[in-house]
Amino acid sequence: MKIYNTLSKQKEELKTIEPGKVRMYVCGPTVYNYIHIGNARPMIVFDTVRRYLEYKGYEVNYVSNFTDVDDKIIKTAIEEGCDASEISTRFIAECKKDMEGMNVRPATTHPLATQEIPEMLEMVQTLIDKGYAYPSADGTVYFRTRKFAPYGKLSHKKIDDLQAGHREIKVTGSSTKEDDIDFVLWKPKKEGEPAWTSPWCEGRPGWHLECSVMAKKYLGEEIDIHAGGEDLIFPHHENEIAQSEAANGKEFSRYWMHNAFLNIDNKKMSKSLGNFFTVREISEKYDLQVLRFFMLSAHYRSPLNFSADLMEASKNGLERILTAMERLTELEAKAADKELTEDLEPVNALVKKYEEAMEDDFNTADAISAIFELVKLANTSVTEESSKAYVTKVKNTINKLCDVLGIITEKKEELLDSAIEELIAKRQQARKDKNFALADQIRDELAAKGILLKDTREGVKWTRA
Ligand SMILES: [Zn+2]
Repeated sequence: MKIYNTLSKQKEELKTIEPGKVRMYVCGPTVYNYIHIGNARPMIVFDTVRRYLEYKGYEVNYVSNFTDVDDKIIKTAIEEGCDASEISTRFIAECKKDMEGMNVRPATTHPLATQEIPEMLEMVQTLIDKGYAYPSADGTVYFRTRKFAPYGKLSHKKIDDLQAGHREIKVTGSSTKEDDIDFVLWKPKKEGEPAWTSPWCEGRPGWHLECSVMAKKYLGEEIDIHAGGEDLIFPHHENEIAQSEAANGKEFSRYWMHNAFLNIDNKKMSKSLGNFFTVREISEKYDLQVLRFFMLSAHYRSPLNFSADLMEASKNGLERILTAMERLTELEAKAADKELTEDLEPVNALVKKYEEAMEDDFNTADAISAIFELVKLANTSVTEESSKAYVTKVKNTINKLCDVLGIITEKKEELLDSAIEELIAKRQQARKDKNFALADQIRDELAAKGILLKDTREGVKWTRA
């Protein structure tokens, strides 16, 4: 199995630390709002990597964090007049709902930054003891970047070029740094911010620290795969490497995987361009299975363009698979229990094609093509005369290959009009009772089934998506 490694800029054969086991860490979202579709791409891509590794028989320990202390969370909390923890708790729950809709399996462990502070303090102390970090006069602790000789090995940047340019690394507190390129491990609190006691100052961790600490705690000092969006290569992952390798004295991760950007209508997604979509917004128009299918329709290292046309194409593509599966289920029920005489070779050849695509750095685009070929084969070679064993074989094969991509092949049950009306009435009552959590839950439940609600002066109107 070949994986493109950002470290070596090459595809490399997967060799895990422990045979048959994969230790995998994926940087998770900062939870200050609903996740956007840019966050959804790494979730779907790396969930698929995990599923394929499991299909190949690996036991995968999959860790993905939630950053629950950060400037954006604090800002939102101040705007809403509540605790930062209220914001993060709410949006972790919302993120998990979106993950479920996209059929992204929960990680083995989802650590939270705020729950790992003692381990973070320990790592900072180790780095200070080893001379890789220093507290400045105001209590900020910095990483002494220049002392870590391999710095830049992931992003392939030279340390002296960093000093000349790259404003992003010359962040906060530059007046108290020894060197412009040093980065923050621990920083003093500002008025109204959540803070923890430390030997250096009352404060909170810098963002990069949590991933080094959580990877070590839940996976060990050496891991197999570290993954995330390509925007994290520098400085986040570069700084994680510096922290972990300086503290532990071991290679942090063997393979570094990064997914490319998601553009919207060929433009970078941004709030100011008005082309910013949350997964929740997409779920009002499409089944999130369509979003998943769309995300996997390109190789994860290729930039992906999101547009209404491409989503429609994905919807149709997915529909084609579901329709074929429905037909196979019907034929299977009717098929005769006779000896299997059909040729299995074309089926097996397509499974091989699928596996070869996935084993070439997880080429899901080609893997989906193999599934489409299999669907075509099913539509032509499976008939009312087919043996039950053959129908079952074809059906189970498509089902298995889709499942590895996280694509659910069963059509969702259509809700009857009367059941919808009943749920809407229940939601209205919940709102009257000021039970907004229940009201929202019902609306989400309906949205997941493709029923959109609109509150109008004449009452609630609904449409099928
Ligand atoms: Zn991270």
